[in-house]
Amino acid sequence: MRHCIAALLLALTAATTAAELPIFDAHLHYSHDAWENLPPEKAIELLKAAGVKRGLVSSSNDEGQQRLAAAAPDRILLSLRPYRQRGDQGSWMRDDTVPAYLEGKLARYRYVALGEFHIFGADVDLPVPRKMVELARRHNLVLHSHSDADAIERQFAQWPQARILWAHSGFDTPARVREMLRRHRNLWCDLAFRSDHAPGGDLDREWRALFMEFPDRFMVGTDTFTPERWPYVVEHARLTRKWLAQLPPEVAERIAWRNGEALFAATTR
Ligand SMILES: [Zn+2]
Repeated sequence: MRHCIAALLLALTAATTAAELPIFDAHLHYSHDAWENLPPEKAIELLKAAGVKRGLVSSSNDEGQQRLAAAAPDRILLSLRPYRQRGDQGSWMRDDTVPAYLEGKLARYRYVALGEFHIFGADVDLPVPRKMVELARRHNLVLHSHSDADAIERQFAQWPQARILWAHSGFDTPARVREMLRRHRNLWCDLAFRSDHAPGGDLDREWRALFMEFPDRFMVGTDTFTPERWPYVVEHARLTRKWLAQLPPEVAERIAWRNGEALFAATTR
């Protein structure tokens, strides 16, 4: 009986700790249609309610996140996208006005990353993405890349010392993600907009093994790519804590927030 009570107390303590875990949300967007519906102060309130201590934000165009950062400079880390509007996603890599646009913003504001940008396969080797990678190198910025594995390889080929945050873990399989993490020590993965790692909040066995092998390389993110996704920041944090509680506390803490802080600390200080 005493043993049971002790076990129960231990479980409760673990649950309480997990419930209080702060979240570093590595995949937020606050684009032009978001701020019209959700003013910066309201968005910050949602982050606070969710226990998001810091968020990596990008927006199309850049103005959205500048407004958000002005409302809570300590909570928001800025990432610069090569997009001025939503439709740029499929055409930016062939738009030769992009590098000058990025340079103008980099001269004016302080960013920790370039992205989230969408690029696949050999398109990475087009002149515009090459210039973007070069700008990241010059400004010591993380690349937040929504890509297939091939495009990740090509970015590392251009800049072997790059630090890349692989958006959505490439929507790739745990086996492939493992292979990539083993090959590249400067690769981190976000888990935004996927649920196969913890369907219904229950941690998947294969993903669990991956988190245990690479506790320093994963981050969580909500991916507020449309305004309607913003209220989900709170539910996302709740669900995240649920599956993180199934990992050893030190691993859960790293994925919840420490990895984000560690990766971006070098660029913020
Ligand atoms: Zn995104």
